Amino acid sequence: MEQLLKTRPEVVRAYCRLFVNRRAFTIQSRKPGAETGRHYYFRPKEKGTEEPVNLTVDILKQHLEGAITIGLYALNPSTQRCKWAAIDADYKDSMEDLLKLQYHLAADKVQAALEMSKRGGHLWIFFEKPLLARECRIYIYDLALRLKVPVKGAGLAEGIEVFPKHNELRAGEFGNAIRGPLGIHRGAKRRFWFYGADYTLDQQMAYLKRLRKVTEGELRGFIAGKSVSDELLGRRQSDHAPATGRSNGQEFRILDRITTPLRKVGRNYVTRCPSCADAGHDRSGDNLAIQIEDPRFYKCWAGCTKEMIRDALGCPIRFRPSA
Ligand SMILES: [Zn+2]
Repeated sequence: MEQLLKTRPEVVRAYCRLFVNRRAFTIQSRKPGAETGRHYYFRPKEKGTEEPVNLTVDILKQHLEGAITIGLYALNPSTQRCKWAAIDADYKDSMEDLLKLQYHLAADKVQAALEMSKRGGHLWIFFEKPLLARECRIYIYDLALRLKVPVKGAGLAEGIEVFPKHNELRAGEFGNAIRGPLGIHRGAKRRFWFYGADYTLDQQMAYLKRLRKVTEGELRGFIAGKSVSDELLGRRQSDHAPATGRSNGQEFRILDRITTPLRKVGRNYVTRCPSCADAGHDRSGDNLAIQIEDPRFYKCWAGCTKEMIRDALGCPIRFRPSA
């Protein structure tokens, strides 16, 4: 296991200013799942009260030093804004796509920081002040489309994933968290550093602070006159295709369609995602989680959309013609 480091309060405070959008967070399990070998992220709860734990400076310090590993949410639902956007890519040759994006971002004078990850990398863009998630997403999606960089979810099982993953969140929603940079990845048992500086916490944070931060005016200039399809921008599935959508007069029941073995994990069934399976992925058979209490709610952790899962099950969602 990678060694623990010591960090200074200034470094922790700088990290907080740069990365923390809200006090909710996730923590990566120390022990891998017994069947999957994966280190899952979960939202920690206070012992006794079961109240969610809020992020503190001390938790950030433990993360940076390597005692724990946390995940950070991209989007604050009270403002619908984010301090950063991150592009996650973990498919074959994904580093090439990230370098291409970084190069073309630089043409807009956007200094994006590239961080290694277990299979690929994360490319981070920082904002001078929190910017609207919707506008950040238009900018990145538009660039990816122009560069022909694949985007996961848009009919593709492999491609980049953009954090924030939503344009907006409702109160009580969290969206998706991404591993907080500079900590130890529990699965890989090592730290992943940014390429742009020496591999110490002080040097890494100094580098991140030095990067030019994108202003709201610049971002609005970049996206002027641009739009990206609702599908790509992660319009809520429920807005146009309720989970109870009927086909042939019958309610779609995912449990009637799944043919792979189901395992109970907490409040969910877990099984192989049919859409991932079509692409030859999810051999460990744990990407799809189906809520036991209400199986209308299901999710592929690799990012397959409801449409992709329904297609793979042979029951495509029928779009009602818009009224
Ligand atoms: Zn999937």
